[in-house]
Amino acid sequence: MPAADDVLSGSNFDIATEFDELESSVRIYCRTFDCLFGRAKGAFLYDDHNRSYIDFLSGAGSLNYGHNHPAIKRAVIDYLEGDGVVHSLDLYTAAKLAFLRKFRDVILVPRGLDYRVQFCGPTGTDAVEAALKLVRKVTGRQNIVAFSNAYHGVSLGALAATASSQKRASAGIALENVMRMPFEGFAGVIDGIALVERMLAPGGGIEPPGGIIVETVQGEGGLNVASIDWLRRLSELAKRIEVPLIVDEIQTGCGRTGTFFSFERAGIRPDIVCVSKSISGLGLPLALVLIEPSLDQWSPGDHAGTFRGSNLAFVGATAALDFWLDGALLEHVNRRGKRMREHLLGLVEQHPDQCAGVRGIGMMQGIAWHAPQIAAAVSRAAFAHGLIVETCGALDEVTKLLPPLTIDDQVLDEGLSRLSIAVADVMRDPAFVHPPGRSVGNEQSRLWSIPT
Ligand code: PMP
Repeated sequence: MPAADDVLSGSNFDIATEFDELESSVRIYCRTFDCLFGRAKGAFLYDDHNRSYIDFLSGAGSLNYGHNHPAIKRAVIDYLEGDGVVHSLDLYTAAKLAFLRKFRDVILVPRGLDYRVQFCGPTGTDAVEAALKLVRKVTGRQNIVAFSNAYHGVSLGALAATASSQKRASAGIALENVMRMPFEGFAGVIDGIALVERMLAPGGGIEPPGGIIVETVQGEGGLNVASIDWLRRLSELAKRIEVPLIVDEIQTGCGRTGTFFSFERAGIRPDIVCVSKSISGLGLPLALVLIEPSLDQWSPGDHAGTFRGSNLAFVGATAALDFWLDGALLEHVNRRGKRMREHLLGLVEQHPDQCAGVRGIGMMQGIAWHAPQIAAAVSRAAFAHGLIVETCGALDEVTKLLPPLTIDDQVLDEGLSRLSIAVADVMRDPAFVHPPGRSVGNEQSRLWSIPT
């Protein structure tokens, strides 16, 4: 069995073909970014030829503090070297207690929150699954309100709340017990909140739901930002009809939108919050459900699972909370978010016929294109210039930028200028929009070179 370094140093093979043979066809990101990655540091990924790529994908929002942040990594290595317990089901461990205490002291208490923390299976989708099960259990009602363009994961319960028709089609069975309502701005003049309220009135013919689940900024759904007013009205409606409000912070959480929880922007207080992705700091899998204490009506073992809270992830998460001891990171996020916005607005101005506008907030922003093919082509062209950037939206029509929150200004600017070069390439050369082969990733001449 070759070590990872041997694999990397001897990698003069056709990567895609070998993975075709060995790995399921379900894989996706690697089809656009098809080189062999070996190393990663901060905002950079390195391939087997030691070429560097600026990472604006950040594990789809799992690497807010960049790859291998030294302090977080050191804490994890020290823990391993000290033979700390790695796997413990849901036994009490020192690593878990340290995380719970620090999360309470650094995140919850300063925000006036007193959530109980549930550790579930380590994916975002399992946090959503648990949240939906819990509100159904507490209310005794089956239906959940979820929104157009929502993304909540791919296990069956979470998938039922997800809007993407392609993702839903993969279920192979009916996805039920979800009432779909328009997210703010989705259906033009229709106000989803007023609609729910009216339909719940006598004669409307619908029962109160068991819960309402919402993303304050729809990450996969196209960087759609709910306004403060809309979020407040949603929260007030939930309170009025006595239905628990679940905010899915899986992609927006841990500072991505300019506050630790994205709902802070609206000053609302959800009953349940799903957190995952960047919470472990290092990209290790960890998912939490934060529960208003009166709703914590689980019986022991109701939502079981072997990997509910890995101690390595607790150690990383505890170290990462140091970023939240003061406001420095958020100040950076808000400044860099403005920088991103200015740059993206400039790009939109240059290509008014192709662009539908700038989307997003904080350090999750992007450009909506009229033609989805352009978004795909921009990702391919950007990759050829050493920038990794993904697409989102119902038709994958949005170029989505998720740089690490800790990225240096200079690297952020370099990434943004590579994006501009990629956009210019796409506008100039139709071959990017209609590539001849499966990908241009490895064959393209790369114009970039950043010292490693
Ligand atoms: N909810 C949201 C808002 C997400 O962005 C994601 C992942 N993109 C999920 C749920 C599902 O998380 P996971 O992929 O870890 O299951």
